[in-house]
Amino acid sequence: MRKYVIMGVQGSGKGTQAMLLAADLDLVHISVGDIFRWNVQHHTKLGAQVRRTMAGGELVGDDLVEGVVKTRLADHDWNFGFIIDGFPRNERQAEFFLESYDIDGVIHLEMPDSEVRRRVMARRLCAGCGMDYNLLASTPSTAGRCDVCGGELVTREDDTEEALAVRLRDYHQKTNPVLDIFRRKEYVVTVDARPGRDIVQKEIRERLGLPPLPAAGQDGPAAGGAAAGR
Ligand code: AMP
Repeated sequence: MRKYVIMGVQGSGKGTQAMLLAADLDLVHISVGDIFRWNVQHHTKLGAQVRRTMAGGELVGDDLVEGVVKTRLADHDWNFGFIIDGFPRNERQAEFFLESYDIDGVIHLEMPDSEVRRRVMARRLCAGCGMDYNLLASTPSTAGRCDVCGGELVTREDDTEEALAVRLRDYHQKTNPVLDIFRRKEYVVTVDARPGRDIVQKEIRERLGLPPLPAAGQDGPAAGGAAAGR
Protein backbone atom coordinates (compact mmCIF):
# COMPACT_ATOMS: atom_id res chain seq x y z
CA MET A 1 0.00 0.00 0.00
CA ARG A 2 1.40 3.38 -1.02
CA LYS A 3 0.06 6.70 0.18
CA TYR A 4 1.34 9.90 -1.35
CA VAL A 5 0.59 13.58 -1.31
CA ILE A 6 1.41 15.71 -4.34
CA MET A 7 1.90 19.42 -3.81
CA GLY A 8 2.72 22.29 -6.10
CA VAL A 9 1.35 25.61 -7.12
CA GLN A 10 -1.50 25.68 -9.65
CA GLY A 11 -0.24 24.98 -13.15
CA SER A 12 2.75 22.97 -11.92
CA GLY A 13 1.28 19.79 -13.41
CA LYS A 14 0.30 18.04 -10.20
CA GLY A 15 -2.92 16.60 -11.64
CA THR A 16 -1.09 15.22 -14.68
CA GLN A 17 1.80 13.78 -12.65
CA ALA A 18 -0.62 12.26 -10.14
CA MET A 19 -2.61 10.59 -12.94
CA LEU A 20 0.56 9.14 -14.50
CA LEU A 21 1.58 7.68 -11.14
CA ALA A 22 -1.89 6.41 -10.35
CA ALA A 23 -2.44 4.60 -13.67
CA ASP A 24 0.07 1.73 -13.52
CA LEU A 25 0.62 1.65 -9.76
CA ASP A 26 -3.14 1.20 -9.23
CA LEU A 27 -3.32 4.15 -6.90
CA VAL A 28 -6.56 6.05 -6.55
CA HIS A 29 -6.05 9.68 -7.59
CA ILE A 30 -7.97 11.97 -5.27
CA SER A 31 -8.14 15.59 -6.37
CA VAL A 32 -9.97 17.80 -3.91
CA GLY A 33 -10.29 20.55 -6.55
CA ASP A 34 -11.89 18.06 -8.99
CA ILE A 35 -14.38 16.96 -6.31
CA PHE A 36 -15.35 20.60 -5.75
CA ARG A 37 -15.56 21.32 -9.50
CA TRP A 38 -17.79 18.27 -10.01
CA ASN A 39 -20.11 19.57 -7.30
CA VAL A 40 -20.19 23.06 -8.83
CA GLN A 41 -20.93 21.63 -12.31
CA HIS A 42 -23.68 19.42 -10.93
CA HIS A 43 -25.23 22.20 -8.84
CA THR A 44 -25.07 20.27 -5.59
CA LYS A 45 -25.44 21.85 -2.18
CA LEU A 46 -21.70 21.56 -1.65
CA GLY A 47 -21.15 23.13 -5.09
CA ALA A 48 -23.26 26.13 -4.10
CA GLN A 49 -21.23 26.48 -0.88
CA VAL A 50 -17.85 26.57 -2.62
CA ARG A 51 -18.50 28.15 -6.00
CA ARG A 52 -17.82 31.78 -5.15
CA THR A 53 -14.80 31.00 -3.04
CA MET A 54 -13.31 28.94 -5.83
CA ALA A 55 -14.04 31.52 -8.52
CA GLY A 56 -12.19 34.14 -6.46
CA GLY A 57 -9.18 31.86 -6.11
CA GLU A 58 -9.65 31.70 -2.32
CA LEU A 59 -9.27 28.56 -0.25
CA VAL A 60 -12.45 26.79 0.83
CA GLY A 61 -12.98 26.60 4.63
CA ASP A 62 -11.08 23.85 6.46
CA ASP A 63 -14.19 22.15 7.92
CA LEU A 64 -15.71 21.66 4.48
CA VAL A 65 -12.45 20.47 2.96
CA GLU A 66 -11.71 18.05 5.79
CA GLY A 67 -15.24 16.66 5.55
CA VAL A 68 -14.80 16.03 1.82
CA VAL A 69 -11.42 14.34 2.29
CA LYS A 70 -12.67 12.19 5.18
CA THR A 71 -15.74 11.06 3.23
CA ARG A 72 -13.69 10.32 0.11
CA LEU A 73 -11.04 8.31 1.95
CA ALA A 74 -13.73 6.46 3.92
CA ASP A 75 -14.82 4.86 0.63
CA HIS A 76 -11.76 2.60 1.02
CA ASP A 77 -11.60 1.89 -2.69
CA TRP A 78 -7.81 2.33 -2.49
CA ASN A 79 -6.53 -1.20 -1.90
CA PHE A 80 -3.13 -0.36 -3.42
CA GLY A 81 -3.03 3.15 -2.01
CA PHE A 82 -3.82 6.70 -3.07
CA ILE A 83 -2.27 9.88 -4.27
CA ILE A 84 -3.97 12.97 -2.97
CA ASP A 85 -3.65 16.19 -4.92
CA GLY A 86 -4.48 19.68 -3.67
CA PHE A 87 -4.58 18.70 -0.01
CA PRO A 88 -3.35 19.61 2.58
CA ARG A 89 -3.02 23.28 1.77
CA ASN A 90 -2.42 24.78 5.20
CA GLU A 91 -1.04 23.74 8.58
CA ARG A 92 -4.39 22.79 10.07
CA GLN A 93 -5.23 20.51 7.15
CA ALA A 94 -1.76 18.93 7.39
CA GLU A 95 -2.20 18.19 11.07
CA PHE A 96 -5.69 16.74 10.51
CA PHE A 97 -4.28 14.54 7.77
CA LEU A 98 -1.25 13.29 9.69
CA GLU A 99 -3.43 12.43 12.69
CA SER A 100 -5.49 10.03 10.57
CA TYR A 101 -3.15 8.64 7.90
CA ASP A 102 0.49 7.60 7.61
CA ILE A 103 1.97 8.70 4.36
CA ASP A 104 4.89 7.31 2.42
CA GLY A 105 5.99 10.45 0.67
CA VAL A 106 5.22 13.99 -0.40
CA ILE A 107 5.98 14.98 -3.97
CA HIS A 108 6.66 18.69 -4.16
CA LEU A 109 6.61 20.12 -7.68
CA GLU A 110 8.58 23.34 -7.78
CA MET A 111 7.95 26.09 -10.31
CA PRO A 112 8.72 29.85 -10.39
CA ASP A 113 5.68 32.18 -10.32
CA SER A 114 6.48 33.63 -13.77
CA GLU A 115 6.25 30.17 -15.36
CA VAL A 116 3.07 29.43 -13.40
CA ARG A 117 1.45 32.56 -14.87
CA ARG A 118 2.44 31.60 -18.42
CA ARG A 119 1.02 28.09 -18.02
CA VAL A 120 -2.17 28.92 -16.15
CA MET A 121 -3.21 31.49 -18.75
CA ALA A 122 -2.87 28.78 -21.43
CA ARG A 123 -4.92 26.24 -19.51
CA ARG A 124 -8.29 25.04 -20.84
CA LEU A 125 -10.83 22.58 -19.51
CA CYS A 126 -13.30 20.51 -21.53
CA ALA A 127 -16.84 21.53 -20.55
CA GLY A 128 -17.99 18.02 -21.53
CA CYS A 129 -15.66 15.49 -19.90
CA GLY A 130 -13.45 17.68 -17.70
CA MET A 131 -10.18 16.78 -19.50
CA ASP A 132 -7.42 19.36 -18.92
CA TYR A 133 -5.49 20.92 -21.79
CA ASN A 134 -2.51 23.18 -21.85
CA LEU A 135 -2.31 25.03 -25.14
CA LEU A 136 1.46 25.60 -24.68
CA ALA A 137 2.13 21.86 -24.54
CA SER A 138 -0.24 20.69 -27.25
CA THR A 139 -3.16 22.01 -29.22
CA PRO A 140 -6.28 19.89 -29.74
CA SER A 141 -6.76 18.64 -33.33
CA THR A 142 -9.79 20.93 -33.76
CA ALA A 143 -9.26 24.35 -32.18
CA GLY A 144 -11.44 24.87 -29.12
CA ARG A 145 -12.75 21.28 -29.07
CA CYS A 146 -11.85 18.32 -26.86
CA ASP A 147 -9.99 15.48 -28.63
CA VAL A 148 -11.74 12.92 -26.43
CA CYS A 149 -15.41 13.92 -26.44
CA GLY A 150 -15.64 16.91 -28.83
CA GLY A 151 -16.83 19.16 -25.98
CA GLU A 152 -16.09 22.87 -25.88
CA LEU A 153 -12.78 23.92 -24.31
CA VAL A 154 -13.31 26.67 -21.77
CA THR A 155 -11.16 28.66 -19.38
CA ARG A 156 -11.51 27.69 -15.74
CA GLU A 157 -13.48 30.31 -13.86
CA ASP A 158 -10.55 30.77 -11.46
CA ASP A 159 -7.87 31.11 -14.17
CA THR A 160 -7.85 34.91 -14.28
CA GLU A 161 -4.90 37.20 -13.45
CA GLU A 162 -6.71 38.39 -10.29
CA ALA A 163 -7.60 34.92 -9.00
CA LEU A 164 -4.13 33.63 -9.84
CA ALA A 165 -2.51 36.45 -7.85
CA VAL A 166 -4.65 35.44 -4.84
CA ARG A 167 -3.77 31.77 -5.26
CA LEU A 168 -0.04 32.45 -5.55
CA ARG A 169 -0.11 34.64 -2.44
CA ASP A 170 -2.04 31.97 -0.53
CA TYR A 171 0.21 29.23 -1.77
CA HIS A 172 3.37 30.93 -0.56
CA GLN A 173 1.86 32.01 2.75
CA LYS A 174 -0.04 28.88 3.70
CA THR A 175 1.27 25.94 1.75
CA ASN A 176 4.98 26.44 2.34
CA PRO A 177 4.55 25.90 6.10
CA VAL A 178 2.88 22.56 5.23
CA LEU A 179 6.03 21.54 3.40
CA ASP A 180 8.03 22.43 6.50
CA ILE A 181 5.83 20.10 8.61
CA PHE A 182 6.36 17.27 6.13
CA ARG A 183 10.09 18.03 5.83
CA ARG A 184 10.48 17.53 9.56
CA LYS A 185 9.29 13.97 8.98
CA GLU A 186 11.65 13.62 5.99
CA TYR A 187 8.87 12.79 3.60
CA VAL A 188 9.43 15.41 0.91
CA VAL A 189 10.98 14.98 -2.53
CA THR A 190 11.24 18.27 -4.41
CA VAL A 191 11.23 18.00 -8.19
CA ASP A 192 11.70 20.74 -10.80
CA ALA A 193 8.33 20.89 -12.60
CA ARG A 194 9.56 22.84 -15.64
CA PRO A 195 10.84 20.03 -17.93
CA GLY A 196 8.42 17.93 -20.04
CA ARG A 197 5.94 15.78 -18.19
CA ASP A 198 7.65 12.43 -18.85
CA ILE A 199 10.97 13.79 -17.57
CA VAL A 200 9.27 15.09 -14.42
CA GLN A 201 7.52 11.72 -13.96
CA LYS A 202 10.82 9.84 -14.35
CA GLU A 203 12.47 12.03 -11.74
CA ILE A 204 9.57 11.53 -9.28
CA ARG A 205 9.72 7.75 -9.68
CA GLU A 206 13.49 7.61 -9.30
CA ARG A 207 13.39 9.74 -6.16
CA LEU A 208 10.63 7.63 -4.59
CA GLY A 209 12.21 4.31 -5.62
CA LEU A 210 9.21 3.42 -7.79
CA PRO A 211 9.30 1.33 -11.00
CA PRO A 212 9.70 3.34 -14.23
CA LEU A 213 6.69 4.54 -16.18
CA PRO A 214 5.69 1.80 -18.65
CA ALA A 215 6.35 2.71 -22.31
CA ALA A 216 3.39 4.14 -24.26
CA GLY A 217 0.99 1.45 -25.43
CA GLN A 218 2.23 -1.09 -22.87
CA ASP A 219 0.14 -0.03 -19.94
CA GLY A 220 -1.89 3.09 -19.31
CA PRO A 221 -1.54 6.60 -20.73
CA ALA A 222 2.26 7.04 -20.63
CA ALA A 223 3.72 9.48 -23.17
CA GLY A 224 1.81 11.64 -25.65
CA GLY A 225 -1.85 12.69 -25.39
CA ALA A 226 -3.31 16.13 -25.08
CA ALA A 227 -3.90 16.74 -21.43
CA ALA A 228 -1.25 18.50 -19.41
CA GLY A 229 -0.55 21.15 -16.91
CA ARG A 230 -2.93 21.12 -13.97
P1 AMP B 1 -7.18 22.98 -7.47
O1 AMP B 1 -7.85 22.24 -8.57
O2 AMP B 1 -6.36 22.08 -6.58
O3 AMP B 1 -6.42 24.16 -7.99
O4 AMP B 1 -8.35 23.55 -6.52
C1 AMP B 1 -9.30 24.47 -7.03
C2 AMP B 1 -9.92 25.25 -5.89
O5 AMP B 1 -10.59 24.37 -4.98
C3 AMP B 1 -8.93 26.03 -5.03
O6 AMP B 1 -8.57 27.29 -5.59
C4 AMP B 1 -9.77 26.17 -3.74
O7 AMP B 1 -10.77 27.15 -3.88
C5 AMP B 1 -10.45 24.82 -3.65
N1 AMP B 1 -9.61 23.85 -2.92
C6 AMP B 1 -9.05 22.71 -3.42
N2 AMP B 1 -8.35 22.06 -2.48
C7 AMP B 1 -8.47 22.81 -1.35
C8 AMP B 1 -7.94 22.68 -0.03
N3 AMP B 1 -7.16 21.65 0.33
N4 AMP B 1 -8.25 23.66 0.87
C9 AMP B 1 -9.03 24.69 0.54
N5 AMP B 1 -9.53 24.88 -0.69
C10 AMP B 1 -9.26 23.95 -1.64
